[in-house]
Amino acid sequence: MNAQRSGSRPLLAGNWKMNPARASEAAELARGVIGAARAASATVDVALLPPFPWLLGVAELLHETGVGLGAQDCFWEPAGAYTGEVSAVMLSGWCQWVLTGHSERRQIFGESDEWVSKKTKAAIGVGLNVILCVGELDDQFEAGRTDEVVSGQLQAALEYMSPGDSGRLVIAYEPIWAIGTGKNADPEHAYKTMRAIRRVLDESLGDEASSRVRILYGGSANSGNVGSYVELPLCDGCLVGGASLKAHEFARMIEVVAEVYGGPTTEEATTS
Ligand code: PEP
Repeated sequence: MNAQRSGSRPLLAGNWKMNPARASEAAELARGVIGAARAASATVDVALLPPFPWLLGVAELLHETGVGLGAQDCFWEPAGAYTGEVSAVMLSGWCQWVLTGHSERRQIFGESDEWVSKKTKAAIGVGLNVILCVGELDDQFEAGRTDEVVSGQLQAALEYMSPGDSGRLVIAYEPIWAIGTGKNADPEHAYKTMRAIRRVLDESLGDEASSRVRILYGGSANSGNVGSYVELPLCDGCLVGGASLKAHEFARMIEVVAEVYGGPTTEEATTS
């Protein structure tokens, strides 16, 4: 399988979730990734997605490094009486990226497809790049319903999307049973699901707009298995949870992706 087939630059995004507990640890983690990200920057896009309170501090560290910054959620209204929420507009001054529809938001906080769709639309509308997450539960996987579930989530999320917005959209296929479990999906399963995702994108946006949408895999990805995903013709990178909390591990993942795509992986390589 040819990693270059999609023609897109690979993206490795680190979803820190509600970690780490202290600002100093967040700074240390970001600093630990910057070197590898810069070295691979000719080949790989890297984004870090810290919790809201650490965004400004990490933004300063990432300034002019080429490493993207993102939030893990947003609200669609620009401002108002929405206690606890952070709007897409507020993020747009600091971030290039935002996650929508992560399974933890859907499951723990009860986010509906409609909410995910509104958040996605609002974020793209203010110029953010969106990583929209879709994925099936364990029993849906066991019942062979993955394509149906993922396609339904995606169709709902794309409801307000115009083809012109597609360059700002990334889809992360994250089987819920693989998230944080150490049970990463078989690459063949990921590939088949990505084919279904691409079909929905083609039908909803048209082939040309669809071709601008990158598709990632997420779910217990690490430096030992990331190569088997980015080698898939339809896979443009990974959304990484647990492994992105260890700077060395995430840095190694960046190197592996750069190697698969044939780019430089060390400071020397980029400066020689
Ligand atoms: C995630 O939270 O998006 C994720 C993929 O987590 P993990 O890599 O820990 O499975």
